[in-house]
Amino acid sequence: MSKDTTNPYESMIRRFDVAAKIMNLDDDTYNILKTPHRQYLASLPIKMDDGKIQVFEGYRIVHNTSRGPSKGGIRYSMDVNLDEVKALAAWMTWKCAIADIPYGGAKGGITVDPSKLSEGELERLTRAYTAAMVDVFGVDKDIPAPDVATGPRVMSWIVDEYSKLKGAFTPGVVTGKPIHLGGSEGRVEATGRGVTVAAMEAMKKIKMDPKKAIGAVQGFGNVGSITAKHMDEHGVRIVAISDHTGAFYNPKGINIEKAIAYRNSNHGVLKGFADGTEITNEDLLTLDVDVLCPCALENQITAANADQIKAQLIVEGANGPITAGADEILTGKGIIVVPDILANGGGVTVSYFEWTQNRFGYYYPEDEINRRADRYMINAFQNVWSVGEKHKVSLRIAAYIFALEKVTISLKSRGVY
Ligand code: NAD
Repeated sequence: MSKDTTNPYESMIRRFDVAAKIMNLDDDTYNILKTPHRQYLASLPIKMDDGKIQVFEGYRIVHNTSRGPSKGGIRYSMDVNLDEVKALAAWMTWKCAIADIPYGGAKGGITVDPSKLSEGELERLTRAYTAAMVDVFGVDKDIPAPDVATGPRVMSWIVDEYSKLKGAFTPGVVTGKPIHLGGSEGRVEATGRGVTVAAMEAMKKIKMDPKKAIGAVQGFGNVGSITAKHMDEHGVRIVAISDHTGAFYNPKGINIEKAIAYRNSNHGVLKGFADGTEITNEDLLTLDVDVLCPCALENQITAANADQIKAQLIVEGANGPITAGADEILTGKGIIVVPDILANGGGVTVSYFEWTQNRFGYYYPEDEINRRADRYMINAFQNVWSVGEKHKVSLRIAAYIFALEKVTISLKSRGVY
């Protein structure tokens, strides 16, 4: 087995290389798609509340635009660095191709711990980042969205700053906005809902009855909490949940509605949650469950702990929670992994619906959005599953092959000079 890596970009390239070899991808296309198309780095000086200036680093990476304008979230975290953003941008290219929406891939981020900033500081930082990227972003160029520690509040500031700088109200420049500012019904729940649709499709294939299945969900932010909620609604008994403040286990099943209400009333964290005994996040991953949904961060399942995983099915809500080295071990153990670039595509799919609604100025009700999003997710799952059967490869490698084929067709028909 090759040495494991926790560098997300190397992890991405390892899978990309395997897929490229299986599909005989030509060298020219390989070289174009291996590297991001454009990389932007900005220093963002912000006047802090105490009057001092602090300088933050902001990134935006556009990986590829062969299939349309680039699309991808903005992340606020101390872990943000160039290789992480490059990996996340490439994953967006593959994800949009798999979801069959007309976008390329991008990602952005600021290296910051947002919990240490006041609301005013966060707003100034967001506006400074938007001003720095004003010629990168655009309705037909590059369309950001929320990711870790950003949400509708941050998207509203971006719309405002961008609109002021361009002299025209431009809600379509970002997605994940609040409804009153051109957001879409269903967007907040879209990623977790899609993760659950993917899980249900996988369960059908491996003949796992959701009503008899036991599950654990790591991360209780947007993706994790909504995934837990929808899995619970489908009958899966969620026995463990967690966030960065703690993990909680209850063999009878955690009351997810209560957990969400508790988190909402507790500064957004689960710390002190009483419906379950406290375990560690490491324990949660290796619990004896049927389905495991890592919905927090990268590199949670590595070559060091993959051997201890007991779940038969893993559905990746987060981007990059499993390393390339762990993939090999999990595949060897016969564990089915529904990969991030397939499983969490529900969010960007409804972002696409939000963008089309902004362009039309006409808005659809939630049931209509959900129905369409579910259909996209089921199609994507079936397509990737078929590629997996054809090439006798894991769903991860199948997803890369499927995405690479689609991006390559667009790239070649547009041509390279
Ligand atoms: P979020 O900020 O809303 O939530 C992140 C959650 O992870 C929080 O509950 C946090 O406490 C938890 N967490 C952080 N460190 C942890 C640790 N060490 N152990 C356990 N939990 C930990 O972010 P989100 O939007 O839910 O994104 C989560 C993941 O899903 C990221 O990988 C993101 O890129 C991916 N994703 C998000 C979307 C979206 O629509 N928001 C779409 C696709 C993929």
